[in-house]
Amino acid sequence: MPAFSLEPAQTAWCRELRTLAADRLRPLAEKGEPGHVNRPLVAELGQLGLLSRLFTSGALDLCLMRESLAYACTEAETALALQGLGAHPVHAHGTPSQRERWLPRVADGIAVAAFALSEPGAGSDAAALSLTADPDGPSRWRLTGEKCWISNAPEADFCTVFARTTPGAGARGVTAFLVPADRPGLTGTALDMLSPHPIGSLAFDAVPVTGDDVLGEVDRGFRVAMGTLNLFRPSVGAFAVGMAQAALDATLAHTAQRDAFGGKLKDLQTVAHQVAEMALRTEAARLMVYRAATAYDEGAADVPKRAAMAKLLATETAQYVVDTAVQLHGARALRRGHLLEHLYREVRAPRIYEGASEVQRGIIAKELYANVEAAQ
Ligand SMILES: Cc1cc2nc3c(=O)[nH]c(=O)nc-3n(C[C@H](O)[C@H](O)[C@H](O)COP(=O)(O)OP(=O)(O)OC[C@H]3O[C@@H](n4cnc5c(N)ncnc54)[C@H](O)[C@@H]3O)c2cc1C
Repeated sequence: MPAFSLEPAQTAWCRELRTLAADRLRPLAEKGEPGHVNRPLVAELGQLGLLSRLFTSGALDLCLMRESLAYACTEAETALALQGLGAHPVHAHGTPSQRERWLPRVADGIAVAAFALSEPGAGSDAAALSLTADPDGPSRWRLTGEKCWISNAPEADFCTVFARTTPGAGARGVTAFLVPADRPGLTGTALDMLSPHPIGSLAFDAVPVTGDDVLGEVDRGFRVAMGTLNLFRPSVGAFAVGMAQAALDATLAHTAQRDAFGGKLKDLQTVAHQVAEMALRTEAARLMVYRAATAYDEGAADVPKRAAMAKLLATETAQYVVDTAVQLHGARALRRGHLLEHLYREVRAPRIYEGASEVQRGIIAKELYANVEAAQ
């Protein structure tokens, strides 16, 4: 299947997802409390069978889900993505008992997941993380430190937590742990952010963990984190493409009917050309996302570069498209509750999380030069 043309069944599935998002998920999203996990929404995603697809689908299907849901309900899109981000390390690296305990409940939308990598002193430079796993007997540790900007915290039922098991070893001394929310010593605080979904910080005060909580191998947790991000980065791009398409369609409808200067807004060539530019860039970003996701599904060697390119292009494009859509709508776009007022708040954070745009450029350059060195 070429990366740039979807099968008719995939196109039909995307249409169905958009309808589900508008009819079944949007009403639940509207009842949610800002800054809190919307459990009825997560449960409905489970009922619709979408969460279980996180563990059975490839990267392209994940992108199609995220793009289609984002088009009609960003809250549902993000709730789905966060279940995937937090639970993928369990799916890919968990023991049979970890998988049995958590994955069915994640898929049903009963257990809420979180992915806890960032810290106050380690964001873009994630390998500098300092949450410490101090030895506490054979195959036992105590986690001490802080995580911040963690989506779904502090309400998530479990977190994939990345902690330092070997001091001074950088990326090679990090271990991934599956930490249930009810562990003694684990507390959290909600943070009030511009981004609409729930985000918080987590404080670890000698939280006990054992070998049964390790995801993958001791000191190999950074690979768990990077493997998860390689899968999810193109899909952040898909989220952005879904938002850009929603902004574009709203702009087409608005400029076609808005009276201005004796005609419609669309009759002004500068307006029409801006809409054309929005469509052009959105389609280019979409193709880049599908190509990166297909590369992941094929197990291609250049996944890190393609994932970084797709995330970078799509998130920057969506920012441009949503901003232009606001401009072409005028004041009404800024009214609280307008689709574009919502998208304007949603579109900003993806340029920062899962690797800021500058970090993606760094990854792309590193991969390019590695190829040059390999060829010499
Ligand atoms: C809405 C939202 C949700 C989030 N959810 C999660 C989550 O669920 N789990 C989690 O672990 N984290 C999460 N984060 C945290 C996110 O991953 C970090 O914010 C991100 O990695 C950047 O780290 P920082 O904010 O500390 O910025 P810093 O690392 O301090 O970087 C600040 C800026 O410096 C520049 N910069 C940094 N590094 C480079 C470089 N190498 N080259 C050039 N310029 C550079 C960039 O402009 C960057 O934006 C979330 C963040 C947001 C905003």
